[in-house]
Amino acid sequence: MITRAAHEMAAAMEAGEITSEKLTQDHFDRIAEVDADVHAFLYLDHEGAVAQARAVDKARANGEKVGPLAGVPLALKDVMVQKGIPTTAGSKILEGWRPPYDATVVTKLKNAGIVILGKTNMDEFAMGSSTENSAYGPTHNPWDLSRIPGGSGGGSSASLAAFEAPLAIGTDTGGSIRQPAAVTGTVGVKPTYGGVSRYGLIAFSSSLDQAGPCARTVLDAALLHEVMAGHDPKDATSINAPVPQVVHAAKNGNVKGVKIGYVKELNGEGYQAGVRSRFEESLDLLAKAGAEIVEVSCPNFEYALASYYLIAPSECSSNLARFDAMRYGMRVGDEDGVSAELVMNLTREVGFGREVKRRVILGTYALSSGYYDAYYGSAQKVRTLIIEDFTKAFAKVDVLVSPTTPTTAFKIGDKVDDPLAMYLNDIATIPVNMAGIGGMSLPCGLAPEDGLPVGFQIMAPAMQDQRLYSVGAALEAELLTKWGAPLLSQIPALGGAK
Ligand code: GLN
Repeated sequence: MITRAAHEMAAAMEAGEITSEKLTQDHFDRIAEVDADVHAFLYLDHEGAVAQARAVDKARANGEKVGPLAGVPLALKDVMVQKGIPTTAGSKILEGWRPPYDATVVTKLKNAGIVILGKTNMDEFAMGSSTENSAYGPTHNPWDLSRIPGGSGGGSSASLAAFEAPLAIGTDTGGSIRQPAAVTGTVGVKPTYGGVSRYGLIAFSSSLDQAGPCARTVLDAALLHEVMAGHDPKDATSINAPVPQVVHAAKNGNVKGVKIGYVKELNGEGYQAGVRSRFEESLDLLAKAGAEIVEVSCPNFEYALASYYLIAPSECSSNLARFDAMRYGMRVGDEDGVSAELVMNLTREVGFGREVKRRVILGTYALSSGYYDAYYGSAQKVRTLIIEDFTKAFAKVDVLVSPTTPTTAFKIGDKVDDPLAMYLNDIATIPVNMAGIGGMSLPCGLAPEDGLPVGFQIMAPAMQDQRLYSVGAALEAELLTKWGAPLLSQIPALGGAK
């Protein structure tokens, strides 16, 4: 049962074939079996999960109508707060902190009857592309334990690929849902900015951060998307409009007559040969299924990475000022006669990891008077140019596509000492965040040279997230016909999940 899709698990519960309590326990058993190797989880809430599962079982037994994902287990990225549950955002500075409230997304998950198994590992404060920046040690890619599972949400995607959870929550500031999805052979969606509430999401770069669904199938992602999304008065940037009909789109995947533009700038030099070939084969499949494929140029994407790495650190330097040793978590050097300023400095010195410090320093510099216009100001202008590239492109095509990442999963340790090489993993995912639009990554095969998963990225205009699902479901169906079984069935056995 644990290798099935979330919607199949829900159907089995509806049919009385399994209870949520049993399904939840099966997942905890699986976690006990493999997580010492994978390290997807930072915290497990056995008690809370079983209580929620029993409540759903009782509601079902009483004939009450429950939501489409009621009783299905889920893994929650540790950047989202859940009342009473230790939440670290992958940082030592928050060790031991138990939030006093639920994020809006968590409230929605609970109301939908979803069973939260625990919190997943991540790069500290969501800064990274490999989960190696976690203060609690890296997560390992279930396809090859010596490789990274992507980042920052590597714990969430690894939990899906290792069959430790059928659903997960991620957050995507520059690619942290889509890049881990790509390198683990799973599905991840960054909704349109403002589509999902940021209330209770520990802020990294507020104008870019967006939570979204992670799953093993496009339909499962859509079901979770509809649970998470919707207007929230507690988030000032939340969109007050109906949620896009993503479940309908996922159930009716179709590309007949759909115009698909592949972005010339996101598929050339620097992209691994096997990534390109799997991407291009997928384009052929979409064309055979009736899509019209055209080449589109987005010349300003060239500057997206550089401007992201000014905007995100700038906003991070301001957001992380709240970790001041007074309000949350760790406090170092708090003795008689030690000034508050020194306690703050010592705490931040000990509590933050290297990458977080690098970003705070970069951001503080970019925002400092005299440099503000040259760095932050210019980066904001580039952001406008990227939006214009997308606007022009979407005047010609319905969706844009590219490989999600330039390479498959690299080895743990390979890029930790080279920040620029690490940042380059986000080259294809960042434009979407800069423009605030929606993006999806879904698996499109294994690269012939290393046998590792390749991600196919779909991008749609703002508030048109249903297009991601309609095209994604169509491609997923074509690939399934070609392969005869889902890609994850090829994962080297981690103790043989059934
Ligand atoms: N890898 C990017 C970064 O390090 C994106 C992170 C994210 O989306 N949270 O900033």
